[in-house]
Amino acid sequence: MKQNADPFCDKRVISSESVCSSRHFVILYNIRPTVPGHVLLVSKRHVERITELDAKEISDMHSLLRKVIPVLIKAYDAEDESYNLIVQAGENSGMSVRHFHMHIVPRNSRDRYSKKNNALYTDIERARKGLGHRHVIEQTARLRRLFSKKRIESYRT
Ligand SMILES: [Zn+2]
Repeated sequence: MKQNADPFCDKRVISSESVCSSRHFVILYNIRPTVPGHVLLVSKRHVERITELDAKEISDMHSLLRKVIPVLIKAYDAEDESYNLIVQAGENSGMSVRHFHMHIVPRNSRDRYSKKNNALYTDIERARKGLGHRHVIEQTARLRRLFSKKRIESYRT
């Protein structure tokens, strides 16, 4: 696959990297996580921007966020239940893959972007490299065990 192609429309990428899914979205462990637990919520349908999602997709996304976020908070010891949700749209936003995805980033005071470490604007190159391939493989397996089923919809009570 050529670089900068759309990996989120590649069924092999989705099936090998997903940790759980809903009807319209899949959760992937970020291949270049900025902090442990950094996952991506990716639309199954190819759209570029959040404004292109329809009402059913938005509702499904909200349900999925409500299931996934508490698991990440617990698994990655996010203090005060802290997390960031980040959506980029367009080249000037820093969007690299032009297929809708939302970053979900559990946060704690020990991570390298905490106020205490104040590295947000000085650590960009390191962040781009992520935490390494081995970390990604281990965390993908961990999250798959935590979610235990491929379709998180089956969790609904
Ligand atoms: Zn796509």
